[in-house]
Amino acid sequence: MNAPRPALRSLDEALASLLAHAALLPAETVSTFDADGRVLAEDLVSSLQVPPQDNSAMDGYAVRRGEIADEGVPLPVSQRIPAGAAPQPLQPGTIARIFTGAPVPAGADAIVMQEDTEPLDDGRVRIQRVPSEGQWIRRSGEDITRGSTVLARGERLGPASQGLAAGIGRDRLQVARRPRVALFSTGDELVMPGQVAPEAMKPGAIYNSNRFFLRSLLARLGCEVQDLGIVPDVREATVQALRDAARGNDLILTSGGVSVGEEDHIKPAVQQLGTLDLWQIAMKPGKPFAYGRVGDAHFIGLPGNPVSSFVTFVLLVRPFLLKLQGASHLQPTALQLPAHFDLKRPDKRREFLRVRRNAQGGLDLFPNQSSGVLTSTVWADGLVDNPGGQAIRHGDVVRFLPLAELLS
Ligand code: AMP
Ligand code: MG
Repeated sequence: MNAPRPALRSLDEALASLLAHAALLPAETVSTFDADGRVLAEDLVSSLQVPPQDNSAMDGYAVRRGEIADEGVPLPVSQRIPAGAAPQPLQPGTIARIFTGAPVPAGADAIVMQEDTEPLDDGRVRIQRVPSEGQWIRRSGEDITRGSTVLARGERLGPASQGLAAGIGRDRLQVARRPRVALFSTGDELVMPGQVAPEAMKPGAIYNSNRFFLRSLLARLGCEVQDLGIVPDVREATVQALRDAARGNDLILTSGGVSVGEEDHIKPAVQQLGTLDLWQIAMKPGKPFAYGRVGDAHFIGLPGNPVSSFVTFVLLVRPFLLKLQGASHLQPTALQLPAHFDLKRPDKRREFLRVRRNAQGGLDLFPNQSSGVLTSTVWADGLVDNPGGQAIRHGDVVRFLPLAELLS
C-alpha cells in the first residue's frame, strides 16, 4: 500500500488547527497561595478602594497648608497617628505626628516629611519647608478603585498578581484545572541516565534527553504529568502505552517515532485506537508533528531530535496547553533586534535559530544549528524567527523570541 505523502503546511496553519481543538478545561478553586502559574477563570472585581483611605507616604507631620505661609513656622502637635490607627480630625492651628501608611486626618491637606522639620524643646515642631498641595499623601483608590476589574479571566497568575488578588481580599481564586498529561518517549536506542553508566553504553545507545526537558516544560505550564517512560519501537507496545495514557488524561505527548519509516510506530498505533493527522510543518528544526485523538484524550507526537522536540514544544504545545487553560496571552512578545552574524545560506523553511543577546544589544548565533545539538538550546537565550529563504546580513533587524518567555 502506498501511503499518501503527509501534507506540508505552514507553522501558522498548524498552530491554528491545533488551537481549534483546545477546548477549555473546567475551573476549580485554589488558595491564592497556590495560584502561581495558574490561569484565572473569573474576572476579579474589587469591592473596595486600594488604598482604602488617604494615607501618608512618609514618616512626618500632617498639616494644613494654609497655616504654613512661610518656612520656619512652629506648631503644636495635637495627636500621634501610627499605621493602623483611626485619627481624629486635625485641630486648627496644630499638626499631627504621622507615620508611613497611617490614615491622613480630616482637615490635613499635606504631609511634611520629618527630615524637613525640627522639634523644639517646648514640644512644638518647626516646619522648615512650605508644603505643596497633597504632598506625600497617597490617595484612596489611587491603586484600585471600587468596582474595577483588577485581573481579567485568562490572566496567567504570578507572584505580583497573587499579591494584588490578596490586596482586594481574595484568599481563594477560580482557575482552570491543571491539564493532565501522559508523557512517553519512543526509541529502542534510548536508555535512562542512572540505569546505564556512560562507560557501559552499548554502541548505538543514547541517553533519553527529551523525557527530562519535556517533563519540566510541562510542569512549568501547570500540568500534572503521568510519565510512562520509554516505549520500545514495537507496534503492540506502542498501542498498549497509548491505551494506558488515554485513561484519565487530557493530552498524550510523545517524542520520536512520528516519521514514516518502518521503525516509526506512532502513526499506525494512534490510528488503530483513534485518529491521527501527520503534518510536515515547513519549519526548521521541527517538521514531523502529529495531532490526533485517542479516546477522550488529545494526542500530540513530537519529533525525536532533541532540538526539534524542544522547539516544536515551545512554539506549538505551549500555546495549546495555555489555551486549554483559557489563557488570553498565548505567544511571547517578539523583539526586533540586530543580528551580529551572517546567515548566508538560509533554509527554504521558516527557521528558528538559536541565538544569544550580547552586551552590544545584538544577537550572536550558535555555530551549530543542527537539530540534534541540544547544546545550542542551553547556550541560547532566544530564537530568531527567520522567514524561509531569507539570508541575514550582519546588522539586519530580525525577530527575536525570548526563551525566558517561551519557558514560562
Ligand atoms: P525519531 O524521531 O524517532 O526518528 O528520532 C530522531 C532522532 O532523535 C534520532 O537520532 C533519535 O535517536 C533521537 N531521539 C529520539 N528520541 C530521543 C530522546 N528521547 N532523547 C534524545 N534523543 C532522542
Ligand atoms: Mg525513533
